[in-house]
Amino acid sequence: MKIAKVEAYWLSCPIPPAKQHRSDYGLLTDFDMTLVVVTLEDGRQGFGEGKAAVGSSGACSSIVTCVEKELAPTLIGMDARNINEIWERLYNGTRDHYALKRGRVFPILGNRGIHIAAMSGVDMALWDLLGKDLNVPIVQLLGGAMRPKMEAYASGGWQDAEGIGEQLRSYTDKGFKAVKMRVGVMDDTVANSVARVKAARFALGPDIKIMADAHGTFSVPEAKQFCRGVEDSNLYWFEEPISPDNKQGTAEVRKSTCTPIAAGESEFTRFNIRELIDHRAVDVIQPDCAIIGGITEAMRVAGLAAAYQLELAPHCWGSAFSFMAGVAVAFASPSAAIIEFSSGGNPMMYDLVNEKITAEEGMMVAPTRPGLGVTPDWDFVKEYRQ
Ligand SMILES: [Mg+2]
Repeated sequence: MKIAKVEAYWLSCPIPPAKQHRSDYGLLTDFDMTLVVVTLEDGRQGFGEGKAAVGSSGACSSIVTCVEKELAPTLIGMDARNINEIWERLYNGTRDHYALKRGRVFPILGNRGIHIAAMSGVDMALWDLLGKDLNVPIVQLLGGAMRPKMEAYASGGWQDAEGIGEQLRSYTDKGFKAVKMRVGVMDDTVANSVARVKAARFALGPDIKIMADAHGTFSVPEAKQFCRGVEDSNLYWFEEPISPDNKQGTAEVRKSTCTPIAAGESEFTRFNIRELIDHRAVDVIQPDCAIIGGITEAMRVAGLAAAYQLELAPHCWGSAFSFMAGVAVAFASPSAAIIEFSSGGNPMMYDLVNEKITAEEGMMVAPTRPGLGVTPDWDFVKEYRQ
């Protein structure tokens, strides 16, 4: 399974006006993603995604360059099945032989950021290839699914206090029993965020799980005020209360409340996640397979979650490729209980691939198709390639 070619495409697709939403990232009119394609000498292809942004849109030219100009030269000629070795070689650069001989890392300067996101896309594509070669889904390669089905939560919720109930009910009407809404600076005041959560709880009743995501935008005092304000609303978790650059602050917020704190989607590698854990900052860890370092690194994070008895909830807001990678990791991990299901306008989840992704009655079934189980619609790729 010799690697012959490694390519990356920046795709940008407009979101229909009726499905657009406004958050702290502004009005999102386009959805961007980077599709990584690893081609073997015999022509077989594996697909992955590397992320340049956690929101729906963002410029992806640097990640494309990183994949094609920096990673590809190392990858060409390597056996695509040697996923662990490839990870170490890309992470350690010219000192890779020290890393492999001495059993510790000698990282390049790009040990965080775009380089790791680009590696994530490659890693995902290698797992996809291996699964297809052996004709099994990736979850089988990871040791098999822990459970036949998993609860999915509908991720959305941008409306104001007046409209949030109706918006979230549009998700529960589809069978979801768990929903996530956005809060934080987009509401202008903490009081508005609290009022929106209370309106959501009032509209949904006591039995629906509600999560709130501040996208890291509150200050520490604001996050504490928010937690106090929503104490009676029984949030399943409060996500990224404050900036990922302030892990001590996140720990301070966690200490002030009994609402579980979630974070991790903006973190690169297990080393960043270890810092979150060291600070006792989180109850729920949310690695994104297209950011953290691929499926390989997400499984190492899953190991940390299991060791520290924290919940693992892979961040799955992105294209169908990173979604299916997150689904594989979640199904394979004993620490995962719920899966994020993108409920905004997301052409990369529903139009980019030939296969249909569904949650029946709010449940995801364990993947059965070989590899990631999704393949690009090349007409879509051609149309929206930048
Ligand atoms: Mg989030």
